[in-house]
Amino acid sequence: MNFGRIDLADCTTPEALLAAIHKLQGENFPIPIPVEAWAAALDITAIEPLETEGFEGGLMMYGDRSSGMILVNRHNGSRRRRFTIGHELGHFLLPWHTPRNGQGFLCSKQDMAVYRAKPGGDRYMEMEAQANCFSAGLLMPAAPFRADLRSRRNFEVSHVVDLADRYDMSKEATARRCADLHDDPIAIVISRHGKVLRIYPGRDFPRLTVWNGQSLPPECITLRSALSQGQSSDWGEMPADLWLERARGSVCEQALGQKDGFRLTLLTFEPESDESEEDEEVVERAWAPPAFRRR
Ligand SMILES: [Zn+2]
Repeated sequence: MNFGRIDLADCTTPEALLAAIHKLQGENFPIPIPVEAWAAALDITAIEPLETEGFEGGLMMYGDRSSGMILVNRHNGSRRRRFTIGHELGHFLLPWHTPRNGQGFLCSKQDMAVYRAKPGGDRYMEMEAQANCFSAGLLMPAAPFRADLRSRRNFEVSHVVDLADRYDMSKEATARRCADLHDDPIAIVISRHGKVLRIYPGRDFPRLTVWNGQSLPPECITLRSALSQGQSSDWGEMPADLWLERARGSVCEQALGQKDGFRLTLLTFEPESDESEEDEEVVERAWAPPAFRRR
């Protein structure tokens, strides 16, 4: 670990914290990130089981933030617990994060799912969103994660599971990170027995026709394929309006079977090419000097 508390002292946003860590850590990220050891090196004196019902994690700290103790719901799987530790560490390191009741943070499952909060809106929601962004960025650092995405040039839905294993993170957290960091516009849909549970659209991905709790679009590959656990469907290409609102072009879809009726679906979007642009390209090509193939 190439950084310490002192290197992060002036950072007041998750982006600034992560940039400072990346600068000092360079190319040397141990994957998966040893989050408990890193937390200990950043003045977290203990990580203890949380007994309070209905919460995923908590943080107790001294008023001067000299040290802190993280509490984690011990009934959760180890990957979710890792994310929770990163989240509480975010509250600890971000100086403006102060708990509601002055005693300590208690974070619910809903808090762990907040990623966007209106700046200047509810300050506690903004803290939760920042803690989540910090945890995702700490445990799936952008540089190695992007390199991993780029090395899988023909990205498949099963790669989400590979990357979840590599980073020792939940498939959901990994799916969100893949959508956020992939160079192309992709979206990942989590469904169960034909109903959408959650959607992780990447930046620039058009708005979908379905939302959480609704049925998957009829005729989609995810519904049409019989898949056992761990089995990927073939890719299917279909008109964009099956999945997307007001988007012209095509959508490619691939689904992965999971246990208990869960499915992961990867969507990619190819916009309809603009005909006038295409014409221009033909004219340009006609006027271009002949290209010679290199030997
Ligand atoms: Zn929290």
